[in-house]
Amino acid sequence: MFVSRVVALVVVAAAGSAPLAAQGLDPHQASQAIDDVHYTVTFDRATAARDVIHVAMHFTVLEDEPVVLSLPAWTPGSYELDHFARYVSGFRASSDGRSLKVDKLDFDTWRVLPGLETDITVEFEFGSDTLDTGMSYVAPDFAFFNGTNLFLYAQGQPLDAPAMVTIVTEPEWKVATGLRPSGSGGYTAADYHELVDMPTFVGVFDLDSARVGDVWFRLATYPAGAVAGSSRAEMWDQVQRMMPPMTAVFGETPWTDYTILLVFDDDFPGGSALEHSTSHLGIFNSQFVGSPVLASVMAHEIFHAWNVKRLRPAELYPYVYDRPQPTDLLWVSEGITDYYADLALVRGGIIDAQRFYQTTAGKVNSVESTPPVSLEDASVSTWTEPTDGTAFIYYPKGSLAGLLLDVLIRDATDNAHSLDDVMTDLYRRTYKNGRGFSYIDFWQAVGRATGNRSFADFYAMYVDGTEPYPWGTVLPLAGLRLEVDTVRTARIGIQTEQEDTTGARVVAITPASAAADAGLQADDVLMRVGDVQVRDGSFGAEFRRRYAGEPEGSPLTFVVRRGQETVSLDGELRFVERMVYQIVEDPDAGDKAVAIRNGILTGNRKPAISN
Ligand SMILES: [Zn+2]
Repeated sequence: MFVSRVVALVVVAAAGSAPLAAQGLDPHQASQAIDDVHYTVTFDRATAARDVIHVAMHFTVLEDEPVVLSLPAWTPGSYELDHFARYVSGFRASSDGRSLKVDKLDFDTWRVLPGLETDITVEFEFGSDTLDTGMSYVAPDFAFFNGTNLFLYAQGQPLDAPAMVTIVTEPEWKVATGLRPSGSGGYTAADYHELVDMPTFVGVFDLDSARVGDVWFRLATYPAGAVAGSSRAEMWDQVQRMMPPMTAVFGETPWTDYTILLVFDDDFPGGSALEHSTSHLGIFNSQFVGSPVLASVMAHEIFHAWNVKRLRPAELYPYVYDRPQPTDLLWVSEGITDYYADLALVRGGIIDAQRFYQTTAGKVNSVESTPPVSLEDASVSTWTEPTDGTAFIYYPKGSLAGLLLDVLIRDATDNAHSLDDVMTDLYRRTYKNGRGFSYIDFWQAVGRATGNRSFADFYAMYVDGTEPYPWGTVLPLAGLRLEVDTVRTARIGIQTEQEDTTGARVVAITPASAAADAGLQADDVLMRVGDVQVRDGSFGAEFRRRYAGEPEGSPLTFVVRRGQETVSLDGELRFVERMVYQIVEDPDAGDKAVAIRNGILTGNRKPAISN
């Protein structure tokens, strides 16, 4: 509901001698304050037919100074600049049907000159068919949006005012959102940060809800029927199992309801999900329905509702929306979140200990096959997505740092304390006091958990530095061992994207590999390698199996489509040696080490009874 209670006062004030606004192009120009902000988002059959979402923003002003409105350049959690203004068309401003002058100040900022008008409406269409968890998506009967894409804010003004949102759609279509329903059929957000933190589904999709512990969960899945029957029941069972171990870490669930929004698509490569304070949005290839990966991603995103949405690095507090906010602590926010996702699965009985060790060893494999980079540097660099192979390595490497710290804290305190104490302590001292945490806060919390044992060397070597992790000394403290095998595998030496069912497009070629020496080129479409046909993404595994027993240097023919031609290239079979890591339980571990291992697997912090 649009309330214009200040208007009568305004006309008197504004009719006076306010100076003409500066007309120059200052992209940082501050807006005059705006009030009574109310957004209307329309997605119905008419806008769907035009592949857009219609957005209107209503507000009141007191003066005839410029109103400067900005659209975010990124969605928090997705640490990249996306410039959502790219998808805006038909931007216009009016008051009582009369058009107002609008100028663009930079790529995502507009200046509206209200003159003597006080009730302003700004409108535009937003069109995006990119499936990306930080963006918005329009299909014929369904749309999802992120508030960062649609909701303008007044530049240079505080972001702490409440906002109202009305969603207009077909009567039989549904809405799923973390936004709080208001009495008048719309939704409210306490401030701009909350407003843009609530991804929303509109249209035709499946929606149900269940009580999990003390809170309500909603599960919205698109397209309708994508997750049904036993797959849906299993997903609900996994949420029920993973929540208690996560809640136990912090001692509270700081939300009353949580919305899981999932999109499944036949063409989406892999899976992706993005966290929010009371929801997350995931997009997955349809083949992921029923896959254990879904539970792992779900645990990761839900744990983020504590770790990063609430307990957050100081550099990200509060969020700013028009520029990057690099922090050297993403290894805590992403890596340690990933460690706790694994713990939630094993502590909740969704996976067994063997599976937990396999997942952990997989992370060791990732780190060992990546150029050395410090956790802090990798955290900072993410905004530019480095091309040297280290992009996102702070996930597995940070997760393993979490495991190392957990073992060392438990060992130092005879399993009376753990990484859980560090997380709770940080959460209480920083988030609960309305601030972000610094690296000093983090290491002080580690100190408090261990009776002030020094972790200066650990920090210097494994967090700020690039020393190999001390698996040989730390894992035995938890009754575990890292085993290394050398595996010899046939390798083609290409990265590909599947083109169709007859071939895969070559996007990168490893120097001095079988593919490079045979003369493959980027953009070739590989149709056959040796006698393995390239029908789908499994051809690499099939190739490794087929040629495992052949001698190195055997003739190997590549058949590629190059432009209009089909070309046959003669090459030779090549092998590479790869280290493969495994984590195993040490049958000779002592009682203390077994107690620590059981503590990690169960969440128990007190001296545990060995089994
Ligand atoms: Zn994450």
